[in-house]
Amino acid sequence: MSPVRKTATKLADGRELIYYDLHDGVAVLRDATDPRPLPPTTTVTEVRHDPLLGDDVVIASHRQTRTFLPPAEACPLCPSSPGRPTEIPASDYEVAVFENRFPSLAGPAGRCEVVCFTPDHHASFAGLTDARAALVLAVWTDRTAELAALPSVRQVFCFENRGEEIGVTLGHPHGQIYAYPFVTPRTERMLASAAAHAARTNGRGNLFDDIVAAEREDGRRIVLASDHWTAFVPYAAHWPYEVHLYPRRRVPDLLALDDAARTEFPQVYLELLRRFDRIFGDEPSLPPTPYVSAWHQAPFQDPRRSEFALHLELFTVRRAPGKLKFLAGSESGMNVFINDVPPEAAAERLREVASQ
Ligand SMILES: [Zn+2]
Repeated sequence: MSPVRKTATKLADGRELIYYDLHDGVAVLRDATDPRPLPPTTTVTEVRHDPLLGDDVVIASHRQTRTFLPPAEACPLCPSSPGRPTEIPASDYEVAVFENRFPSLAGPAGRCEVVCFTPDHHASFAGLTDARAALVLAVWTDRTAELAALPSVRQVFCFENRGEEIGVTLGHPHGQIYAYPFVTPRTERMLASAAAHAARTNGRGNLFDDIVAAEREDGRRIVLASDHWTAFVPYAAHWPYEVHLYPRRRVPDLLALDDAARTEFPQVYLELLRRFDRIFGDEPSLPPTPYVSAWHQAPFQDPRRSEFALHLELFTVRRAPGKLKFLAGSESGMNVFINDVPPEAAAERLREVASQ
């Protein structure tokens, strides 16, 4: 891809804002200043350890006052226009990243960033061009490198929540990045499973490699297999429609992704998102498929990181038009998921709705 131009600046309350632009020979000047009289943010985040479950809970009380679904003309993620300053002082941008004003994690408890995928309020990630999707991948990679360099950060999580049905409070296409000061419970469990598998196979097998190879061999749950990526519905999918996407060459994180996989990523990922939008048909009254798209990366400063496999987990909480999968008693109370859509049927549907 073409080189990326990065311009870092500060918002009125001192938070960092970074513009990322494709450098195509046209000089873009990102020098607008933030005119808003913003008070300094008061972030009170605290990480508490649960002695029964052994996990950590982030207590973030200041978040109750955050902006909730503003109309397009009051959107804080749109570019600024005369008389209407937003979180992004520039009158246009390609991709912009800034520190969240209402972070779940802050200071020694980590950091939260917002990634605006496009200046177009009514767009979606699935509608981006290949070049713009490649720019977002470059941004996720660069943010991972920068956040991993902070002394308190152990794990960097890039994700997108899309759709009001899963609690998105801003309609503008955007994602978030959480930099945690600890290794998250899901990653700990994956690392423990990988270690157990290595022990079972006398150090010869890597769990992630063996799972992907078995799925490719079996074929029933494969959604898409390209030169550099494999996408499949996992054997024990937790969600009605869930796809795991792995680069064919195992790497611990986005920083280690090779150029071939990087180049092919936009086609593969945009195709998956477009298929998600077609799962439930094209009834115009149905809101677009809500989804969570989550990058799993190896923790930093951790001896186990070489055993981990970078992958993306994409899933929707919608199980049928108008019906959502709620985390009810069994899921919330006992961590036992009950999935009404057989993974093989989900994979078949995701192949049926492929672009021609
Ligand atoms: Zn907007």
